[in-house]
Amino acid sequence: MLYIAEPENLGDLLPEEPSYRTDQLKNWLYKHPVLSADEMTNLPTALRDTIGPQLWPFELAQEQVGDGGSTRKWLFLCTDGAQIETVLMGYANRTTLCISSQVGCAMGCTFCATGQFGFDRHLSAGEIVAQVAYANAYLASTPIPRSPARVTNVVFMGMGEPLANYKHTRESIRRMIETMGMSARSITVSTVGFVPGMRKLIEEPWQVNLAVSLHSTIPSERTKLVPINDRYPIDQVVATAKDYFEAKGRRVSLEWTLIAGENDSDEEAVGLAAIARGIHAHVNVIALNPTPLSTDRPPDRDHVRRFIATLTREGANVTLRDTRGQDIDAACGQLRLRAASS
Ligand code: SF4
Repeated sequence: MLYIAEPENLGDLLPEEPSYRTDQLKNWLYKHPVLSADEMTNLPTALRDTIGPQLWPFELAQEQVGDGGSTRKWLFLCTDGAQIETVLMGYANRTTLCISSQVGCAMGCTFCATGQFGFDRHLSAGEIVAQVAYANAYLASTPIPRSPARVTNVVFMGMGEPLANYKHTRESIRRMIETMGMSARSITVSTVGFVPGMRKLIEEPWQVNLAVSLHSTIPSERTKLVPINDRYPIDQVVATAKDYFEAKGRRVSLEWTLIAGENDSDEEAVGLAAIARGIHAHVNVIALNPTPLSTDRPPDRDHVRRFIATLTREGANVTLRDTRGQDIDAACGQLRLRAASS
């Protein structure tokens, strides 16, 4: 019985209370979230005491602050002991939350700390949405200087492949839009190319953004980095991304984690630009955040520049993303990895 996780069932959870109380509580949970039930000042003390211990489906186990205070990385401990990571990033005009959709991940991408851990379980819709509610509650009392004091953008780029947990990812998106009032266009679902989930997303009524992680255009190389390429080959992934663009009118983004000696060649840049041009996609390149269990490293700055220059020359729209949180364990799964090994 977790209040924040089950907004539709609040009436059942509080059978003795008048209906306006459930409306008040809904307001606290999703519209103006607070970290503690003690702050729900228009509810009677006895009710706050009842709600308090079950307000969140997790507790904060660890926080790291990086980039001069504009990045917060949280490790949450779920009620069953599972650990998940969430990262809050403040920018001048937006506050972005990177959320997890699974505990671990079954996709096994070689450069990813989460992938190296394997898969434990799916997160429930409540556990996914609670990460957003928690960030909003946190920002209400501790805003990031010069950034909006509310989550303006959500990206499913934390632990897990969100489209492999379709049912709960979908329900969490529905709640963000319908209950929390977020715009679908401010939500980005990231996938490593889980084609069945991409197809389902095309059928949904929302214009959420789709980010597809390619990491290599050469099938055999991509299978090495992203083993699911064996099941859903790159041609299928790109064709489905194109269908998404045509169905939604939203430009898909192609994500590329740049790894020295693996996918940073001119050949890869030319191939990537051709795909991007073909499906009118935007390319986001980010230099690898190294993880302790892998020997993979990012290329040096000159090499990164050369890769970007080749993409641009070949006609791709490209953004070089900054690697947030290099002073903390910012790469997806790293905080959990460190917690497990300490
Ligand atoms: S990169 Fe994403 S899909 Fe790949 S193992 Fe890591 S969390 Fe899973």
